[in-house]
Amino acid sequence: MRLILLGPPGAGKGTQAQRLEAAHGLAQLSTGDMLRAAIAADTEVGRRAKDIMARGELVSDDVVVGIIADRIGEADCANGFILDGFPRTVAQAEALDAMLAARDIALDAVVEMKVDEEALVDRVTGRYTCAQCGAGYHDRNIKPARDGVCDRCAGTEFSRREDDNEASVRTRLEAYNGQTAPLLPYYAARGVLKGVDGMADPDAVTTEIAAVLGVGLSG
Ligand code: ADP
Ligand code: ADP
Ligand code: ZN
Repeated sequence: MRLILLGPPGAGKGTQAQRLEAAHGLAQLSTGDMLRAAIAADTEVGRRAKDIMARGELVSDDVVVGIIADRIGEADCANGFILDGFPRTVAQAEALDAMLAARDIALDAVVEMKVDEEALVDRVTGRYTCAQCGAGYHDRNIKPARDGVCDRCAGTEFSRREDDNEASVRTRLEAYNGQTAPLLPYYAARGVLKGVDGMADPDAVTTEIAAVLGVGLSG
């Protein structure tokens, strides 16, 4: 299965992509995570992206298209993948179409996660992740079972993203509404767009995604 999770910052794409990865053996391809790894490794791409990301603007299409083109050819993507945070512009969607056509593969679905704007700021500013395994949490909405201990790996170090502040979120929402929202009619016209209620609790969102994809929860 090859799918795209589409939605504004804080919609829950990463949370649901991690669950789909675990349940269905799909590779989670997050351009945001890949760019943050490039920044941490101080690569050429990382140096180009750092200030743009801190402001909440979009990194150029050629940079992210290049990253994804390299990534979808890797062995772990053979069984399928979840694109989380890509494409974010119509130009990226067109480049993705060309990449998939060249490999003779197609998208199964584009899942739009719908969340109210007021909830997004709260979600993003309360977000933190396990520094060891990357599991995602929230100060109020999704807490580990034991305070300060990751449910998945028992790690005790957590980190927050530099861009998860209110000013950056506002800019990212503008980028979403202006540059990414045009992907909704783009994919609707191709008959692959499905919508889910991203305001529901995380388990209910997982159930609804499985239902629109027509897959069982365990495989
Ligand atoms: P995205 O990848 O779309 O930016 P995340 O999956 O990182 O979003 O979720 C943003 C924040 O909201 C995280 O702190 C996450 O724990 C929390 N979150 C995710 N899904 C839900 C949900 N259904 N209800 C409430 N909070 C959620
Ligand atoms: P969120 O889900 O909270 O918006 P991401 O981790 O997906 O966060 O993205 C963080 C930042 O990385 C974006 O604000 C943008 O600067 C950059 N980025 C990630 N993916 C893309 C993309 N497909 N195109 C352009 N910029 C991107
Ligand atoms: Zn962990």
